[in-house]
Order: sequence, then structure tokens, then C-alpha cells
Amino acid sequence: MRVAVLHGPRDVRFEERDEPKIMKPTDTIIRVSSACVCGSDLWPYRGIQPIAQPTPMGHEYCGIVEEVGSAVKTVKPGQFVVGSFCISDNTCPNCRAGYQSGCQNLEFMTGAQAPMARVPFADGTLVATPELPSDDIIPSLLTTSDVLGTGWFAADAANVKPGATVAVVGDGAVGLLGVLSAKQMGAERIIAMSRHQTRQKLAKEFGATDIVTERGDDGVARIKELTKGIGADSVLECVGTQESMMQAVRSTRPGGSIGYVGVPHGVQLNAEQLFFTLVRLHGGPAPVRRYLPELIKLVFDRKINPGKVFDLTLPLDQVAEGYRAMDERRAIKALLRPSANAKQGARDAA
Ligand SMILES: [Zn+2]
Repeated sequence: MRVAVLHGPRDVRFEERDEPKIMKPTDTIIRVSSACVCGSDLWPYRGIQPIAQPTPMGHEYCGIVEEVGSAVKTVKPGQFVVGSFCISDNTCPNCRAGYQSGCQNLEFMTGAQAPMARVPFADGTLVATPELPSDDIIPSLLTTSDVLGTGWFAADAANVKPGATVAVVGDGAVGLLGVLSAKQMGAERIIAMSRHQTRQKLAKEFGATDIVTERGDDGVARIKELTKGIGADSVLECVGTQESMMQAVRSTRPGGSIGYVGVPHGVQLNAEQLFFTLVRLHGGPAPVRRYLPELIKLVFDRKINPGKVFDLTLPLDQVAEGYRAMDERRAIKALLRPSANAKQGARDAA
């Protein structure tokens, strides 16, 4: 089979690899229905996070179970499954506390930008859908694997409650789905920080009530202005830079909470400065497995349509273009279809 392999900065190749095999009794092999390029894939793609050897890419996935190891109990061949980007046993104390992304047996999924993938700890990582999904909800189901699960965690970690005022820093796919998550959790006012018109439009569709285009001191001033000088109850930090983190800290009211899910790159926090802000900070890799049953149900019941973040669909053999489009911010998020009948590079008309 041919899969996406990163060889070095801006060098993604679609090349021949062996089909995955069951290696442990807890493994599952799935036939990937859809995969996608993650914002976090861009760090190694840009060479900011160097790789030691050619690396099969992809950690967001959904598909049909092809084969299960002898110890797998909860999924069976023929079922449609979605899995977390974090591989977890879902039985250790950390998993039972709801932090599967801190599992004692934690691994990170890789190699899902491929027609077939091996998922270890299938029972602790995958969730089967109630029935085979119709094609039109597969993109939304795919988002639950990481990008929606991560936006959801940002809102949950930021303690979004009914009636809350929320600010979202970052207008990438995670930030946009953070807006959707805050809306679902009952936020009354959702301020999206974005300078890009297409992203502002999507943020509003997902539930944003206000758009702030300013950044830095001006961005903080604007959020204060919109919140009677106080700051937001909950702030979702969905970027991971020094600027975005300080934007979040300074936009939160005393006693408010920040959910930070952008992988920090070179972020330094001053404890003394933080001390006097009186804010709560909670974040990290999202425990997506905790949220999967609820998010899958919301998608199946057609209560949410997070698949709208995919504004570019490509057949898997054009994966390199998916990376380029996201790197150049021509696309918010690229959906990859391993099947031969995928629409050839069709752009979503919306
Ligand atoms: Zn665990």
C-alpha cells in the first residue's frame, strides 16, 4: 500500500510501505475511510520539530475494522470506528480519572494517512458508531478523533458553563471547533479572535457572537471593552505561541479559566505575573477518548456539523498538496480520502 511519509522539511512523499499486521493481541487493523492533516503535523513539516528518520504521518482517523487481535473485546470486523490520536488502555488510574492522554501505557497514533492502519489498545482507544454512518457525516466523525475533541477539551478545561462569556484565541480548525464546543456547552457570548474573513464567517456559523481582529495590547483592550472591563470567564488558547498564551492570560477575568491546547513552542510564563492575575490554567493533549461517545452521538443525531472545517478534500495520493495548502494557510484543514472515488480535489462550495 502507499502511505504519506515525511522525509524532512516540506518533503512529504506518498510511498510504498508494507500493510500493517497485528503485532499484539490488543491490536486492531482498520481500513481508513478518511484521514486528514493536523495543524500539529505542520511543526515537523516546517522543520521546527525535527524528525530523526522518515516518518509515516497521520493521527486523525476513522474507518472500518478489518481485523482484531485475540484479546480485543469491544470492537469487531465490519464495524465503523473512530479512535483518539492518543492510544490508551482506558483501564489504568489516569484513564479512569478521565485523562486517557496521560495513560500509563500512552502512545501517540501515527501512520493514519494511509489506506490501512494499526491501532494498538483497540479496546481503550476506539469507539464503534451505533451503525454504519452515511457518507455525509464521515468528515464530522473524523473531527471527533482529534480536532473537535481538542477544541472540546479546551472549552471543558476553560470551565465553560451556561451563560459564560468565552474568548477563543486562534482561528485554526481547533479554535473554530472550540467556538462550536463553547456554544454546545451553553456559552452566551463567544468572542472569536481572527483576522481572516473566511474563518470569521465559519466562527460565526459555529456560534461566535463577536469577532476581534486586534492582537496584543489592542486585542486585550478590545476584549476588556466587550466585557465591561473585566475579561472573559473562559478563554480557549488554541495556538501555542508566546503571543497567543499571553493574549489568553491577559484576556481572562480574575478567577476565570484558560484551557490551553495549542502545543506550546517556546512559551515561557512568568510565575509572579501569573500569580496576580488569579487565573486558572488547565491544558495539555486532549483526553479525546473521554469525549468520543458523547461527540459521536452529537454528530449522529446531527446536532453539530464540525466537518465544515474541512475546506479542501483530496484523494490520499495528493497528500503533499494538503500539507502545502495548510502550510500556506490556503486551507483551514485538508481531508484525505484513501478510496479511489474521492472527489478530485473538490473544494467545498460553502
Ligand atoms: Zn490508561
